[in-house]
Amino acid sequence: MEASREFVYQKFTEYYQDPSTLIPAVSIPEQREFGYLMFKERFMVRHRRFAEFKNFRAMLAEIVPSDVYHSCAYYENPDFDMDKKGWLGADLVFDIDADHIPTNCDKIHDEFICTKCGFSGRGLIPEVCPCCEATKFESKTWPCELCIQSARDETAKLLNMLENDFGFSQDELHVYFSGHRGYHVHIENESIRSLDALARKEIVDYIIGLGIKIFENKQKKDTKNAKFRLHDFGWNRRLKVGIKTVLSNATEDDLTKIGFNKKMLELLVEKKDTLIDRCLDEGYWDGFFGVGDGTWMKIAEYIKDQQSAKIDTVVTTDIHRLIRMNGTLHGKTGLKKVEFPPKDLQNFDPFTGAVAFKKGKVKVLVSDAPKFRLSGETLGPYKNQTVELPVAAAVMLICKRRAQVAK
Ligand SMILES: [Zn+2]
Ligand SMILES: [Zn+2]
Repeated sequence: MEASREFVYQKFTEYYQDPSTLIPAVSIPEQREFGYLMFKERFMVRHRRFAEFKNFRAMLAEIVPSDVYHSCAYYENPDFDMDKKGWLGADLVFDIDADHIPTNCDKIHDEFICTKCGFSGRGLIPEVCPCCEATKFESKTWPCELCIQSARDETAKLLNMLENDFGFSQDELHVYFSGHRGYHVHIENESIRSLDALARKEIVDYIIGLGIKIFENKQKKDTKNAKFRLHDFGWNRRLKVGIKTVLSNATEDDLTKIGFNKKMLELLVEKKDTLIDRCLDEGYWDGFFGVGDGTWMKIAEYIKDQQSAKIDTVVTTDIHRLIRMNGTLHGKTGLKKVEFPPKDLQNFDPFTGAVAFKKGKVKVLVSDAPKFRLSGETLGPYKNQTVELPVAAAVMLICKRRAQVAK
């Protein structure tokens, strides 16, 4: 193994062998499947069972994997083949990752290179290579603050829905920084454990706002006095409040963004009070000349886009999913997955709270790194230069393939 990887492996080893390292026990470990990615060999070990968590801890200290996972699911026989495990239920989990969210930085810090033809670029990885149409890319990503803030905003919307629409209490919501550039939410409540994939898909659809209807089906016979009320729960409440806010505060710019032409936005701005009173408060959506279903739907779509939470839908519906374990290190950053109370979402700073390596400095040759912040220090930007960095920063840059240990 080259010297830089060896250095990271050494630091991961110290972390897992240190008895003061806190790795909170998983609930009901005897029914969980455990998995981990081997640091040097880069293959995934799955279907492991540890009836006692202390044995698991001992394994971590001995093997020192690069990434560690456990199943959301509970099984009769977690160490058997998939079809013989005997599924007993699963936690409800959500994954929010900046990879799936459009951001202001537009991921300019990310680089990709086609593994077939070498075509490279910056920004979001394309689905197919524009040169050779291959679909495999090597990528260099970065956990930037803007990206993490966008993931945080999506997580806030998710938590809001889980609390207010689904009725979970804050105690039931376990919120984690993922260790890279996102957040996880786990719910271990008995009431959700037996939900199958379809039921979980329904929850996902609700959270991403799929299939929201703002108008009840119109009955042909009473189109004249059709009354379409938005009631005061869930998405209906969101749409109602949202439409009101849009009408009350929207500037011409906002309305242009929603996709209205000049004539329509003049009408909306001029008539907003009447529209709010008559349509939203009294529920008469029809009969306002020039503002029809299409207009309302446009505003509703806009609000839906703003207020739905951009979760990774596959993670929630997969009832056999492995998820990163709390307290373990992320192989792409050397940061740890760490839990914090839901109310601390906006204040929890991953660049201090998730830092695992707090001691020492090391000299590295950095090929390319943007300006970043870690453990209260602001570092970089660096370009082809040798610098002495705190261990946590050096580990992150090496994991991100942006630096090597200097000789
Ligand atoms: Zn290519
Ligand atoms: Zn970013």
